[in-house]
Amino acid sequence: MNVVELIRRKRDGGTLSAEEIGAVVRGVTDGGVTDYQAAALLMAIYFRGLDGAELAALTDAMLHSGDVLDLSDIAGGKVDKHSTGGVGDKISLHLAPAVAACGVNVPMISGRGLGHTGGTLDKLEAMPGFSVNLDESRFRAVLRKCGMALIGQTEKLAPADKRLYALRDVTGTVESIPLIAASIMSKKLAEGIDGLVLDVKVGSGAFMKTTERARELACTLVDIGRRAGKRVTAFLTDMDQPLGRFVGNAVEVAESIAVLEGRGEPDLVELTLTLGGEMLVLGGAAKSFDEGRQRIARVLEDGSALERFRQCVALQGGHIPNKAWFPSDHDNVVAGDAGYVQRIDAEAIGMAALRLGAGRTRKEDAIDHGAWIELVKKVGERVERGAPIALSSRSNDAAVAAEVRERVRGAYTVGPEPPPARPLVLEVIR
Ligand code: URA
Repeated sequence: MNVVELIRRKRDGGTLSAEEIGAVVRGVTDGGVTDYQAAALLMAIYFRGLDGAELAALTDAMLHSGDVLDLSDIAGGKVDKHSTGGVGDKISLHLAPAVAACGVNVPMISGRGLGHTGGTLDKLEAMPGFSVNLDESRFRAVLRKCGMALIGQTEKLAPADKRLYALRDVTGTVESIPLIAASIMSKKLAEGIDGLVLDVKVGSGAFMKTTERARELACTLVDIGRRAGKRVTAFLTDMDQPLGRFVGNAVEVAESIAVLEGRGEPDLVELTLTLGGEMLVLGGAAKSFDEGRQRIARVLEDGSALERFRQCVALQGGHIPNKAWFPSDHDNVVAGDAGYVQRIDAEAIGMAALRLGAGRTRKEDAIDHGAWIELVKKVGERVERGAPIALSSRSNDAAVAAEVRERVRGAYTVGPEPPPARPLVLEVIR
């Protein structure tokens, strides 16, 4: 293989064969292709795109760059959910136990937060002792015992993606639909699942800022899954304001537990019923989406989803602290005008939480699990001049506290009339 020739061909708008793509991905995995060659090829793909056959070949080569789990010895359907990332998105924490309580296995491999978006692994680690680094035999044991397991990507799973993603992150090539699609689907297909529900976020707090881009990504993801023989459904969902009322790590676990206790915020509950209802259909535990939704609602009400969650936390070495999530000391952000909240810029709230220490700007940064922001008021709600619209954990650094207040205040748009209602679920692609 002559990598330079392949880079030139892609740069000039040509196509690469499946063999050529397979050879490049092998080179990425074993070091035969240098970082600068891989980065140049990524940039050529960013500008020129990939056709359907090239994308299928890239996903397949990345998927087979490491182990592909075979979970066929575990009885029942195996279905995962993947979200493209947002602010306040703690859905996985209560969705997985709800689906497991309905009889569908959820072997969930999640990511960490980066930039303004949060990550499931960071939230899980807010529970003392919780281990997201299980080896394969422990992962299987937990999954067998409680129908769910929540872990991070291992060294053995899609290692080509690990190297390519790290390069994309520092070369301005993350925002490419074929590269995002191959990256997500290579990891998901390596999990040994039968079905996958995708939550493709759209709006100010999402990677995809417009419905058109989100739809294009969703269709690409569904098509890759279908070609691989999996049942895949994508929902386009609103990320124009954060999900739920809390942004942070420990606080989001607490908010998820509230959903499992049957007292969740309406947007969190609605999204859980939607994604969970579809997971039950794909996993063979419900005949229709409506039946799936009803079953999920029942396990949230009767405590069985909460029981699964507790079981999983214990099996993964963690414990749920007793009401120790909120420091008593906090800062207020007050409304400058009376009226109705029109908009809450989710990215700005995510950046404020990051500034408090809830997230990281580089992969190696440590995070403060106790940092948080509470959205006292959400879109459509009435605010009074001088009354609190948001609260945050207090920073000891006055400059940070001032910046957080400024960012949170700037995230809110208040107007005289209630805004038109925007649906949470915008589209479904099956
Ligand atoms: N998540 C992934 O796993 N890969 C991407 O490229 C973007 C988001």
